[in-house]
Amino acid sequence: MQQNWSRHLRYTLAGLAGTTLAGLYLGYPAYGLTTGLGIYLLWTLYQTRRLALWLANPNATDEAPQSLGIWGDLFETLHKLNQNHLQTRDRLRARIDRIQESTNAMRDGVIMTDARGAMEWWNGSAEHLLGFRRSTDQGQYIYNLIRTPVFKSYFDAKDYREPLELNSPAKPHIHLQIQISLFGEDDRLILAKDVSRLHQLEQMRRDFVSNVSHEMRTPLTVISGYLETLVDNADDLPAKWRRAIKTMATQSFRMETLITDLILLSQIETAEQEENDTPTDVGRLIRQICEDARTLSGEDKHEIIFEAADPNLLKGNENQLRSAFSNLVFNAVKYTPARGRITVSWFTNREGGHLSVKDTGAGIDQVHIPRLTERFYRADPSRHKDTGGTGLGLAIVKHVLLNHDGRLEIRSSLGEGSEFICHFPAHLLVAVPAE
Ligand code: ADP
Repeated sequence: MQQNWSRHLRYTLAGLAGTTLAGLYLGYPAYGLTTGLGIYLLWTLYQTRRLALWLANPNATDEAPQSLGIWGDLFETLHKLNQNHLQTRDRLRARIDRIQESTNAMRDGVIMTDARGAMEWWNGSAEHLLGFRRSTDQGQYIYNLIRTPVFKSYFDAKDYREPLELNSPAKPHIHLQIQISLFGEDDRLILAKDVSRLHQLEQMRRDFVSNVSHEMRTPLTVISGYLETLVDNADDLPAKWRRAIKTMATQSFRMETLITDLILLSQIETAEQEENDTPTDVGRLIRQICEDARTLSGEDKHEIIFEAADPNLLKGNENQLRSAFSNLVFNAVKYTPARGRITVSWFTNREGGHLSVKDTGAGIDQVHIPRLTERFYRADPSRHKDTGGTGLGLAIVKHVLLNHDGRLEIRSSLGEGSEFICHFPAHLLVAVPAE
């Protein structure tokens, strides 16, 4: 190009020198130079016009416009650049088509939206699972199509660590698991997976446990009642029966507690979110629980302290909250040696409300902590024999917190006591009305 440019400059200067010399020969060198410059200007304008016309639609012909000198080179170079650009475009288009074909073949719904939720693209499964229509839904906000408020708040919250489960807006019998990932500038990639079968199995498990527990409760109450009467009249019984009857009474009491916890757990699991709207005075609730805990502690004389830094009320289901808090406080009593200290505190901050139950007990090994809220999981099965627990306490706490958009944090290490903290979101806090 550099070489061509020097040649172009030489030819142009030679041309101008020629016209000037011709002018000099005729006695008008200035006219000669002006004529040369004029011709050069007209030629340049003509080539510029050709360039502009060609650039307006460079793909109309397969070849670049032909021209002399630097203009010919310019047309040729631009033509090559255009060809490269077309090839790259075709290659990218083929790749995008392939990605779209493969995502279309997926059984999960895939949806792309911009940061505000406007729908940009979705695959065939999204149409099937969520009822989207290509003709009308392009550019619509996704939360206007999936109209559950819980989806809108999940979408806006940008905390997508846990997936969201909901019924399809178009086909309510389809249960979907929604997972969102952020990409680009806060754009969203949404995956919708059909988990109806799993959901159904989970529902069957819950119904089974709930039905069995209810069915067992009545005969067990009858058995316990008779055993209690027998224990009360133990003196009238032959000596060899006394011990057996007492053991049977203790075991049937344990079974009753277990059944009560199982029923409670399945009720909490199926409880509707709407029930969680009554403001509960956490301070009053905890004071009652601490009184019960002192009775449970009895001769062990634990020091049970309640510190309430905030009078804020907590919107929620009071019965569920009572079950959760009492499980934590009673556990602290059960797993803390006599005369140990148990501190219960309720405080609020910008993040929300927090109830902490701290003890000076034996503590829990780190390896057990992630599994403690599983049903029937015990950190130390031998220790639990004396406590008579059902193994469902922390599972109940976890589900109550799930129902209240909260979470349970467990801090503990062996020999250093434990702290269980229930975190509740700020939107559940209600200021105490002024007197
Ligand atoms: P359990 O009825 O056995 O107490 P939970 O679900 O309430 O069942 O607790 C599960 C396990 O967690 C218990 O078996 C115990 O090993 C451990 N645990 C719970 N609370 C405490 C605590 N405050 N200190 C030490 N270990 C605890």
